Amino acid sequence: MKIPVDDIKASPTEVHFAEEVEELNRLLIEDGEAGYRLPRPLQISTVHMRSGDELLFSGTIDGELLGQCARCLEEYPLPLAREFSVILKPQRTLGRELELNHEELEASFYSGEMIDLSALVREQTLLALPSQPLCRDDCRGLCAQCGANLNLESCTCRPAWRDPRLAVLSTLRLSSSRADK
Ligand SMILES: [Zn+2]
Ligand SMILES: [Zn+2]
Repeated sequence: MKIPVDDIKASPTEVHFAEEVEELNRLLIEDGEAGYRLPRPLQISTVHMRSGDELLFSGTIDGELLGQCARCLEEYPLPLAREFSVILKPQRTLGRELELNHEELEASFYSGEMIDLSALVREQTLLALPSQPLCRDDCRGLCAQCGANLNLESCTCRPAWRDPRLAVLSTLRLSSSRADK
């Protein structure tokens, strides 16, 4: 979805559209976020308006995500819902850039005659992802030895064997840290 800069007026305009997710799914893999994918188009509602040469966009992104749990590797659905509000300022020429103050460096910029709303939606969607896909906070994961999904079954594997010499080492470390005090 692209909007000509000249069509953005001082009075707010609402736009609703469905955003295809092929490009986003490609980005998720590229960015190392392969634990997430989007199964169907996102529903986007935005309001845009102008204040001088600054363009204001606010809106919501709604859809569904599929995550692959980092612990048990099961795929699970989770809702995607993000509200956003961004201000785009016109891109300055290179000479003016040195004069930008800190606040301006934080802003986003536009250049050219079209605003690519799809690019904005992609950026905001990536920001909405939870940092790690987990099917639930207390997911017990897979047994490291037999691979059983410990959410569904318990296995008979015994806890991993620990080298008794390592236990001695940790005692040593403990007593030396005590000596430091
Ligand atoms: Zn899990
Ligand atoms: Zn096991």
